[in-house]
Amino acid sequence: MAFEGLQERLQGTLKKMKGKGKVTEQDVKEMMREVRLALLEADVNFKVVKKFIADVKERAVGQDVLDSLTPGQQVIKVVNEELTKLMGGEQSKLRAAQKPPTVVMMVGLQGAGKTTTVGKLANYLRKEHNRKPLLAAADIYRPAAIDQLQTLGKQLDMPVFSLGDQVSPVEIAKQAVKQAKEDHQDYVIIDTAGRLHVDQELMDELQQIKEAVSPDETLLVVDAMTGQDAVNVAESFNNQLDLTGVVLTKLDGDTRGGAAISVKAVTDTPIKFAGIGEKSDALEPFHPERMASRILG
Ligand code: GDP
Repeated sequence: MAFEGLQERLQGTLKKMKGKGKVTEQDVKEMMREVRLALLEADVNFKVVKKFIADVKERAVGQDVLDSLTPGQQVIKVVNEELTKLMGGEQSKLRAAQKPPTVVMMVGLQGAGKTTTVGKLANYLRKEHNRKPLLAAADIYRPAAIDQLQTLGKQLDMPVFSLGDQVSPVEIAKQAVKQAKEDHQDYVIIDTAGRLHVDQELMDELQQIKEAVSPDETLLVVDAMTGQDAVNVAESFNNQLDLTGVVLTKLDGDTRGGAAISVKAVTDTPIKFAGIGEKSDALEPFHPERMASRILG
């Protein structure tokens, strides 16, 4: 991951401060300038950066930091803690229905990794939590989507619910939940249609599916490589669908990581999972603290 910017910049200022008996407010200011530039370079939303810097500064120019033996390290600690907070603090777990099946609706733009993530999440739930998921093919517009899900189902040896591409996605979702109840599957993961851009027709249909099956989780799958766009997409989906969580995909790629930092801050929706590759096992729960440490190096 390309977060070297922040590490290098902070190490640079720390070196300059080494040997100095006391750290001044001016030193802290200089460090904050570096943090600010690194975050902007990492494509973090500028409003988020502004608030972040203000929060860190307020804590970092406190006497605890200025009086400590390693003030530079103390500033880094504060940056780390505030970054963790910004990304949600605690790890946010998947909700479960009181009475199975738990319904998870997966939404997002085309190419974000939705269908792949349906398979990954199903695999994760079975492997880590011994659950039995049903995959539901409700993306009837992208011709290959149903086939793709069926192939994933075969690979994972998991059932896939499909009614082809001539039945409405709302009906498919409803029938899938009914089927899961009958078969005692404890999760239904619904793959929905995406588009290249956010449009109202897509949102209307997703809202109808949502009303029809009242999902326990409405997860937005968003491509971390798209930086600021990821944040805009998350805002639009959240306004219309009241998301319960975000899955950030392609964190294995050469992303500058800004999306990871801004999505939660802007939408106040927790990032629940991170996609870290194309294979079915390349999904992990998103840990804000680990992510912050990775950013800081
Ligand atoms: P959908 O249109 O949203 O359903 O997108 P797909 O599930 O078809 O995924 C689009 C492409 O992104 C595929 O080539 C996936 O293999 C790839 N992809 C999905 N998630 C990840 C990820 O976490 N890392 C990487 N490197 N590729 C991913």
